[in-house]
Amino acid sequence: MALEINLKGKVAVVTGSSSGLGRSIAQFLSQAGASVVINYRKEKDKADEVTQEIIQGGGKAICVQADVSKKEDVKHLFEMADQELGPVDILVNNAGIDGKRQMCGDDDPDEWERVISINLLGPYYCAREAVKRMIPKKSGVIINITSDHEFVPWSGYSAYSSSKAGLSMFTKTLAQEVAENNIRVISVAPGAIKTPINRDVWGNPDSLADLLKKVAMPRLGEVSDIGSVVAFLCSDLASYVTGITVPVDGGMLLYPDFKHGG
Ligand code: NAD
Repeated sequence: MALEINLKGKVAVVTGSSSGLGRSIAQFLSQAGASVVINYRKEKDKADEVTQEIIQGGGKAICVQADVSKKEDVKHLFEMADQELGPVDILVNNAGIDGKRQMCGDDDPDEWERVISINLLGPYYCAREAVKRMIPKKSGVIINITSDHEFVPWSGYSAYSSSKAGLSMFTKTLAQEVAENNIRVISVAPGAIKTPINRDVWGNPDSLADLLKKVAMPRLGEVSDIGSVVAFLCSDLASYVTGITVPVDGGMLLYPDFKHGG
């Protein structure tokens, strides 16, 4: 018998799933049998498109508008899931922004706050709604999409790297809190994956060449590289994995420049 990722009967909420990694994650979870809540903030057309793709492929999906940095929106997101599909079994905190490039001291603190609100407070607001529903079931999985920048500093993006490092510690602390309820909490740290968030980098030959030097494998990541790993981690095949970060980065954390001498 072939090994199968089986999420049949599970309800999944994927934040920011109208594009990029979130869209692929939602499609993989659906292919594994989960019913999926597609969440978007502004891109209703794209979110409707993903929802229809899933439904036409024989899956179950609904589409809900919510800004993850707003507590009331997040409450509504989970209530809609309850109403239409049932209480959530899987939460993927994917929504995120990198924010404007700005150096500390010559920056706008409101921009720092905006990044932290979406990338760190958003996952926290979503996780608290999710665990309220998972604890009674004594089962659940929360995946937080961090970044290699939870480990690697990124000049000009201190809000982004701090938000991702903070989210990583939230993963570990929450994992410790809820393990006794059979709830797993895991960070997935993408490296450089081709999505709209970094189109200005991979869309330009010079910056693409520079970025590729930072990846050990000879390519950038595709969204499916993340979707497949998230589906696996959500499944019982990974039932003893919790409280860690899984980098999915083609070896970016191997610091490939050191291959040529230190
Ligand atoms: P993307 O811009 O395609 O996706 C981000 C999604 O988040 C979009 O759908 C956007 O509408 C949504 N979003 C933004 N703010 C929101 C809010 N307040 N409420 C709800 N949704 C909101 O980019 P992506 O590359 O797919 O990014 C997804 C996640 O992956 C982000 O958390 C990002 O930090 C992380 N990441 C991406 C890469 C990469 O190379 N692409 C690398 C490391 C980490």
